[in-house]
Amino acid sequence: MSMCCEWCSSENITKEAISVFWELPDGTKAIEIKETPCISCKECGMNYQEEEIIEQIEDQLFLIDSKVLENSLTFKELLEKPRLLKRNYFKFD
Ligand SMILES: [Zn+2]
Repeated sequence: MSMCCEWCSSENITKEAISVFWELPDGTKAIEIKETPCISCKECGMNYQEEEIIEQIEDQLFLIDSKVLENSLTFKELLEKPRLLKRNYFKFD
């Protein structure tokens, strides 16, 4: 199955890594996550994260100690942060 842009359905897309700003689950601040995998559409110019990446970021931000989190770090560094909880108890699927 070939991938296409979620916005304009163009297949003229590339996988890139960009900086994104993400609000913490508790809303206290937003952090910069560098080198975050994204889909970049050459047709409509949209850059967006795939659902799987968004889920990884959201889960991780929920499970780590965000009080000691840097304001800027890479996607890889974020995912390597030790978790406070073993799993996300608030996700029921
Ligand atoms: Zn597009």
